[in-house]
Amino acid sequence: MRSLDDFACRKLEELDRALLRRTLAECLREGGPWVNRGGRRLLSFSCNDYLNLSSHPALKAAAIAAIGQHGVGAGASRLVTGNHPLFRELESRLAGLKGTEAACVFGSGYLANSGIIPVLAGAQDLVLIDELAHACLWAGTKLSAAQTLVFRHNDVAHARALLAEKRLHFRHALLVTDGVFSMDGDLAPVEELAALCRAYDTWVMTDDAHGLGVIGGGRGSAFAAGASGQVPLQMGTLSKAIGGYGGYLCASRPVIDLMKTRARTLIYSTALPPMIVAAAIAALAIIESEPELTMKPLAKARAFTSRLGLPEAQSPIVPLIVGEPEAALHASNKLAEEGFLVTPIRPPTVPAGTARLRFAFTAMHPDEEVARLAEAVRALIASSPAPATMKALQETQCPPSS
Ligand SMILES: *Cc1c(COP(=O)(O)O)cnc(C)c1O
Repeated sequence: MRSLDDFACRKLEELDRALLRRTLAECLREGGPWVNRGGRRLLSFSCNDYLNLSSHPALKAAAIAAIGQHGVGAGASRLVTGNHPLFRELESRLAGLKGTEAACVFGSGYLANSGIIPVLAGAQDLVLIDELAHACLWAGTKLSAAQTLVFRHNDVAHARALLAEKRLHFRHALLVTDGVFSMDGDLAPVEELAALCRAYDTWVMTDDAHGLGVIGGGRGSAFAAGASGQVPLQMGTLSKAIGGYGGYLCASRPVIDLMKTRARTLIYSTALPPMIVAAAIAALAIIESEPELTMKPLAKARAFTSRLGLPEAQSPIVPLIVGEPEAALHASNKLAEEGFLVTPIRPPTVPAGTARLRFAFTAMHPDEEVARLAEAVRALIASSPAPATMKALQETQCPPSS
């Protein structure tokens, strides 16, 4: 179809002009934080495999054993015939780790958020969402018929003002936020938000994609905030520190039972392959038995921020905001010349004007390489075509509101 291809070409040209076109680069992960791109070995600071478990021998062995026993695919949705026995063990381990009555495993984090929110919020309800919440919290919010209100990033007073003004007009209210913000690395004020939500009969849900396994003794952002037991809906992913794939919700038994009968992304999508569930079980066993491992990514991030005089890292994610997409691409290329893979992050993943480098630290990053990276970044800042802006942004490290 001529008009179809014309449409695609026009769109691509627009993106090219704005330096916002994305393409896929082949990346061969070599175990640990090393990758091979175009024949070059680079040390990656762009993997969310925080504990490097994706290539851990225990996970590989568990996955291989599960293939031997159960085959490759699950064959159907969990509600039909895909609910193999490994789910029960994984869900009880997740609930145990998070201190909730029950858990429900979904196909991915994106599917979890797209499924959970519409179950909890309908046309008579209100959803409050942090402006920097992850794309899939937005997707779930948009899929619900609820009225949506956006609060300024981590601004509890703003959320309170919105609830004070609007809460009474709605049947139920749900507040959703990242526990650890995926592109900024900062933590949500979980305890304050939980207290606010109690005062306004509002349900709070945290997305702990970047919290599980790496903060709060590996138990995530609610534990890091000393607010375990105060967050009734703790969602997360098995695709980051857990090293595999899949998403989950930890909550009370009735909420989980409701999800299993109502969440469309659970009901109408094939269950995770048994091997990936087996690998997640093995990963949780490691996290429970090796608490010192869970502290390493944050320690590496802090070594980096302290060398550069940046605000102390709160999570294994450290952003360096450079402003325009061109500056982020340039900075990324310069670091690649030094042997580091740090992919540039551009709008619409982050607000316009806040293109950035995003460093993700993992347990196996050698200390001397973290030091060398910090020196390379220091040189980059010094030689930046717009050093003043870069330095100013570096001091605040807080993106302007979108
Ligand atoms: C990665 C991510 C997700 C999505 O999880 P997947 O399992 O990769 O689909 C959800 N929320 C946040 C905050 C994330 O960073």
